[in-house]
Amino acid sequence: MKEPESLQQAVLYFAEMDNCIAYLSARRWPDGKVICPNCGSESVSAFNSKRKTWKCAVHHPKREFSVKVGTLFEESPIGLDKWLTATWMLTNCKNGISSYELSRALKVSQKAAWFMLHRIRMALHDETFGTKLGGPESEVESDETFVGGLGKNMHKDRKIKLQAIRGEQRRGDIALGKTAVHGILDRDLRKIRCTVVPNVRRETLQNVILKQVRYGTKVYTDSSPAYELLHNRYIHEFVNHAERYVNGRVHTNGLENFWSLLKRSLRGTYVAVEPFHLDRYLDEQVFRYNNRATKDNPLNDADRFDLVIRNIVGKRLTFAELTGKPN
Ligand SMILES: [Zn+2]
Repeated sequence: MKEPESLQQAVLYFAEMDNCIAYLSARRWPDGKVICPNCGSESVSAFNSKRKTWKCAVHHPKREFSVKVGTLFEESPIGLDKWLTATWMLTNCKNGISSYELSRALKVSQKAAWFMLHRIRMALHDETFGTKLGGPESEVESDETFVGGLGKNMHKDRKIKLQAIRGEQRRGDIALGKTAVHGILDRDLRKIRCTVVPNVRRETLQNVILKQVRYGTKVYTDSSPAYELLHNRYIHEFVNHAERYVNGRVHTNGLENFWSLLKRSLRGTYVAVEPFHLDRYLDEQVFRYNNRATKDNPLNDADRFDLVIRNIVGKRLTFAELTGKPN
């Protein structure tokens, strides 16, 4: 059977356990050499098609292993057919998918669906986070926004931001239970990076930019005083949003568009997001944006799914990573 290219094909394809195993193995062990996830040995028995497992030749506990062991799907009683369908849906639904929708679609409890979505999001994290964006001759946009709290009221966000820009809000502290998010858009790479920030003070935003953007890059912002000292390291230009939004190439419209996508998804699909989990939702939205189909990079649903599965089979999650609490 051909690998799936649509949700409908994915449901049919992954209904067969052997297809799930074939798809995952091909990504996990691209050269076909199965490696024991517990000790790294390459001496592994041939696949036992009855038990759907391999067996390590080295003597140690848990010698027998399935394709799930050592991946984000490990130790879950939920079948691979449901895991892979859920991954397809989350990866390719433009506005995301709620645990309620997933629970109905897969016939699992809402709690289980929530857990699944949360795990899959781990694989959507941008692995290039440590590298820097921009460079001489490149342009990046930098902007921040507020999400959560009184999410129903759009105008409030605007107001808080204006207050922060005018310095009316004391030192950029955030009121009304909102969480501040800073974004950078690299216009050449067409990639966005988002960070949850504790406030929008100058030191905070400046440090985020210094950490993420190469010196000498053209950085475009609004007229927030938080960006005042950027000219020390960057070619900094800004637009005063009280006057206009665009001045030639100097604008932050790329990020403004992303903020509205993010907020639509947070309002429509994810009714209540705890600030702690916001990072994961940002990863999800950023993944979708950075891996959208463009003229130069015509990614389709199957490509995006493939990308995520490669991350999933390479990741093992601890309880602490998932909840932020020590085990
Ligand atoms: Zn082993």
